[in-house]
Amino acid sequence: RSRVSERIGSIAESATLAVDAKAKALKAAGRPVIGFGAGEPDFPTPGYIVEAAVNAAQDPKNHRYSPAGGLPELKQAIAEKTLRDSGFEIEPQQVLVTNGGKQAVYNTFATLLDPGDEVIVPTPFWTTYPESIRLAGGVPVEVFAGPETGYKVTVDQLEAAVTERTKVLLFNSPSNPTGAVYDPEETAAIGQWAVSRGLWVVTDEIYEHLTYDNVPFTSIAAAVPEMAEQVIILNGVAKTYAMTGWRVGWMAGPVDIIKAATNLQSHATSNVANVSQRAALAAVAGPLDAVEEMKTAFNRRRKAIVEGLNAVPGFSCPTPAGAFYAYVDVRGALGDGHQHQTSAELAGYILDEAEVAVVPGEAFGPSGFLRLSYALGDDDLAEGIGRIQQLLAR
Ligand code: PLP
Repeated sequence: RSRVSERIGSIAESATLAVDAKAKALKAAGRPVIGFGAGEPDFPTPGYIVEAAVNAAQDPKNHRYSPAGGLPELKQAIAEKTLRDSGFEIEPQQVLVTNGGKQAVYNTFATLLDPGDEVIVPTPFWTTYPESIRLAGGVPVEVFAGPETGYKVTVDQLEAAVTERTKVLLFNSPSNPTGAVYDPEETAAIGQWAVSRGLWVVTDEIYEHLTYDNVPFTSIAAAVPEMAEQVIILNGVAKTYAMTGWRVGWMAGPVDIIKAATNLQSHATSNVANVSQRAALAAVAGPLDAVEEMKTAFNRRRKAIVEGLNAVPGFSCPTPAGAFYAYVDVRGALGDGHQHQTSAELAGYILDEAEVAVVPGEAFGPSGFLRLSYALGDDDLAEGIGRIQQLLAR
């Protein structure tokens, strides 16, 4: 018998974290590595949020266990924020505060899925979804949409993927890794289809505030209110407030599901660190000025990275409307007559030769693509893209 259980042995290391770790290790060893790997804003957490945490650390009441499901004040603030930003009304008891959005993803699938239940996963997907579905005993069913359709799936494609085991549709707009944003009509059509099929919808809205060129964010939960009893909203403070390391996210949904997921969390981790929750409270209940400032910088970088990538022979990069990722189609630089067959090989070559870290498409679905986060500084971005251009122009 193997030492590691089958269940855990079957999941892979997070490829994005692996690329980031390799880049950081090379950097620590003195190499001038430029990292496009991690989805991490390069801004500091706003001062008023840090201050709330400092005050919280000094208050002895935060030195004790708090309710496993989250501080009541924070749950209340999340309910209000969900109405403000998603246009979807929920009560505080419909919220579970988690250790980052990632634990919300895990809790959600663990709570919804029985062995063999299928989840439709629009592809390219964020690398954690399928692993988290598998951990719960579920089966991820990939539905691929390429750059030809703006990396967005259609109702017809979804319909073709349904079986009698399908329980959930995953929806992530703005998308990691592609930056695609579904417009209000597309969102409503997909939501109505899911309702007509009796499916649960899990909507990951963590990039809700990061859209560009006046493209609106649409919450599928609000677009199709009929799904209220079968929708889970996932979100967190990491991307909006530059708080990746604070580890606060949440899931919001029907009371029975939230209650069951809270039971799970009460055994797995108990409450999220109180100091982080107090910081998240200041973030969620406060203004959105900081994300507006970050957006100005991201928008500038978005344009620069798309232009730079499209100048590489064989690369084709659509302009993403949201999040902070460029998803470049590199199929024109692979295969016969080229040095590399797969995007994983190409990414390895770029890291070894140009000391630039990018994540290969294999982490998010099929080979043939690279994901570059543009949440890094302008100078690093220009240097990194310049190195890729130089390397691949040869
Ligand atoms: N959902 C998506 C689509 C993400 O890209 C991420 C982070 O990369 C998360 C959720 C979770 O973020 P965190 O666990 O840092 O809150």
